[in-house]
Amino acid sequence: MDFHLTAKKHFISTLFLFIGLNTFGQKVTYNHLVDASHGPTQQIMALFENYIGSNPQLKAENPYWNSEEQATYKNFDFLEEEFEPSLYMGLPAHVLSISFKEDVAFIKVQFSYCKADGTPYVLAIVNYLAKKVKGKYRLFNRLPLNRQSWNCTTVGRVDFYYPDYHEFNYEKAGELNVFINNLCVNFGVKPKPFDYYMAANYDEIQVLKGIDYYLGMGGVDRPSGKAAENKVYCGGLGEFYAHEVFHVQLEEHFPEMHFWVSEGIATFLGGSRGQSLDWHLKKTNDFLAQNPKIDLSELLTLKNLDSETAYHYSLGGLIARKFWETGKYPLLKKIMATVKTDADYYKAIETYLEIPKDKLNHYLRDQLAHF
Ligand SMILES: [Zn+2]
Repeated sequence: MDFHLTAKKHFISTLFLFIGLNTFGQKVTYNHLVDASHGPTQQIMALFENYIGSNPQLKAENPYWNSEEQATYKNFDFLEEEFEPSLYMGLPAHVLSISFKEDVAFIKVQFSYCKADGTPYVLAIVNYLAKKVKGKYRLFNRLPLNRQSWNCTTVGRVDFYYPDYHEFNYEKAGELNVFINNLCVNFGVKPKPFDYYMAANYDEIQVLKGIDYYLGMGGVDRPSGKAAENKVYCGGLGEFYAHEVFHVQLEEHFPEMHFWVSEGIATFLGGSRGQSLDWHLKKTNDFLAQNPKIDLSELLTLKNLDSETAYHYSLGGLIARKFWETGKYPLLKKIMATVKTDADYYKAIETYLEIPKDKLNHYLRDQLAHF
């Protein structure tokens, strides 16, 4: 996961805690629908209401979503996992439009609520498809349709999708495959094929997924990436963004891996936001030198350092490198399998690096001074 998406996720989680799941229930309302009395429109309205009412955040088998995508993906609704804890966290769903092209229905929905002072709070505006399966409408992701207008080039295990303006770099795509093979050999897992979506700007990727608007859209354009089930999305990073490849290949094998272990090893092996671990370490050292009061013995409470890096990348990466120097890949693998809680993380540092928690501030500042 990448920096500014992490920041957004955190913000959205905070919002969730504030509003709670029960405040709104699962309510569907409609903006002006042009053909509200039209039979197929009514079928789509019933389908969407049933889907929203079926607790889609649980990702259980769902009669309103098509079975083909459910058979292929555990997280079959790609929009669900775009928000923390879920797109279906309880905000009212307001259907903006339902339109048809032959037998295919296009559904545009806003997830938002009205704040106490009367101003609207919009989490997202997203798009679904509905198509008939055995005579009945079922919901589909928008991504497979939208990507038909992008180019696709397969190199090794990766299907790269990209817009017309992008000139494909075969050399970098080859390097990514070398990285995948080495990674999977080193961690003893079977490499799997996946889709890699790339564009100059991350918001283009969001539109491709069917997201017209999301909380956190806009701002200064920064390289950004995200891994999902069998998919990597990245903006401004080209064909070789190894960080997300770590997540996509390994996370399913170590589902309880601590966030700092995952982000630290991903950054150690693949950099973050297009920059190497050493770049993040230098930046962190410069910052900490100016801020001597920050206590690194409580490092897991620290989040984003500034708009360009975060402690879980730099310090997490540094600690991952130290583990690797101590026990190479077998130790990294052991840590990925066993370190689940904050206490486990501090314990692993004490056990394998012989640094007790109360000495961490001194130790990490000393190590950082090399950068
Ligand atoms: Zn990450």
